[in-house]
Amino acid sequence: MESIRSFSDIRQLIEGKNASCEDIVLFYLKKIEENRHLNAFLEVFSEESLQRARIIDQKIQQGKAGRLAGMVVGIKDVFCLKDHKIQAASKILEGFVSQFTATALQRLLDEDAIIIGRLNCDEFAMGSSNENSAYGPVLNAADNSRVPGGSSGGSAVAVQAGLCTVALGSDTGGSIRQPAAFCDVVGIKPTYSRVSRYGLLAYASSFDCVGVFSSNIEDNALVLEIMAGADEYDSTVSRSEVPAYSKNLLWNGPAKVAYVKELLDGDGVQEDIKQNLSSSLQMLKEAGHEVIPVSFPLLKYALPTYYILITAESSSNLSRYDGVKYGYRTRDAKGILDMYKKTRTQAFGEEVRRRIMLGTFVLSASYYDAFYTKAQKVRNLIRAEAIKILTEHDFLLMPVTPTTAFKLGEHNKNPLEMYLADLFTVQASVAGIPAISVPNGYDANNLPIGLQIIANYFEEEQLYQFANTYFSRS
Ligand code: GLN
Repeated sequence: MESIRSFSDIRQLIEGKNASCEDIVLFYLKKIEENRHLNAFLEVFSEESLQRARIIDQKIQQGKAGRLAGMVVGIKDVFCLKDHKIQAASKILEGFVSQFTATALQRLLDEDAIIIGRLNCDEFAMGSSNENSAYGPVLNAADNSRVPGGSSGGSAVAVQAGLCTVALGSDTGGSIRQPAAFCDVVGIKPTYSRVSRYGLLAYASSFDCVGVFSSNIEDNALVLEIMAGADEYDSTVSRSEVPAYSKNLLWNGPAKVAYVKELLDGDGVQEDIKQNLSSSLQMLKEAGHEVIPVSFPLLKYALPTYYILITAESSSNLSRYDGVKYGYRTRDAKGILDMYKKTRTQAFGEEVRRRIMLGTFVLSASYYDAFYTKAQKVRNLIRAEAIKILTEHDFLLMPVTPTTAFKLGEHNKNPLEMYLADLFTVQASVAGIPAISVPNGYDANNLPIGLQIIANYFEEEQLYQFANTYFSRS
């Protein structure tokens, strides 16, 4: 086997009896070994995935295998898998082992997917470059001096470098779409509440979404359709029916496609990226779609709104890591308060501490109304504006990122500079609507450029169809 790019490659190999699941896993294990320097994996489940592959090979022989037999999945280090470590790439969860399996993962396992290992990410999914991991940054496989994006950098690179068939990630403000764009792969953030968060480590609970990285749309659609849908363990999950996304991936008829005019005219976006978007809009026009400029005046408030709300929610969610219940505890404490303080100071990284402090500040009695309540109101306005655009149009097209992948160390001295990497991904997160990042060409340095397609609530099916029809490479 030279290379495996998609699940259909694997299915062909298995159906033609040219490879077993065991061969497929061995192939990926070798690739992972050859690409250690990328630092994508925090842990590889070598023995276990081989054992599982053998069991699935038997099931295939007996004609009893599930829909994902032969698919090899990497998981961001924020998903609980029973009896396995989970750390969110943080020292504070050192030694902690999950007692149950996340619903999203369980559904893939039930269809005979093989989980090959835990993938590196920014600590607690906070970051845009993977440089906040306590276990070192991940390197972009297109150019090892550049970041893969974040926070799901390991997931993006694992798919980019062909170290697994698909990878799971979480997207709170862009953590799937931005690294997907930097690494030339497909990444979806579904509608908030489409996929269960049971067993996903909480960052900002009103934003967190489980999503998929893949090399093509078809695999992405298949995995999402299996993971999504009502779950008795998470009452916030939508009960609305999940379409069989992968069954019909063709878009028919003319679409109304909106784009934000100010983004193409204004500064702050790399020229290659603007041109990339313009030529895609032109291509759609020529294909018979209506391409319509819209204005989104509240767009500039999406980033501050996001950072106020997610720091508030994360300061609350991360209060549980106190040295008592999970993982790491300091060794030299004098009394309980001292133990809390030292444990949290020693084991949380700088960015996580910064956000906990900011979040505690915006939630404090004297500032609650000025920051938190106000941000909630702005969130509602942004949501209303986005829905208006998406009711009048089928899709909104935007860049995924203001620049292509930047150099390691380029932005990590200044948090604000880093936060700007999320400029175009946060509004879908603030509104809770679905958005997909698709590979869409390269800049002058041959670095990947992504295109973001955004749709109204629960229109993942339309996103996949449109993306597959007009922006698919295979
Ligand atoms: N980069 C953004 C942040 O740091 C997004 C993170 C995410 O989606 N998990 O908050």
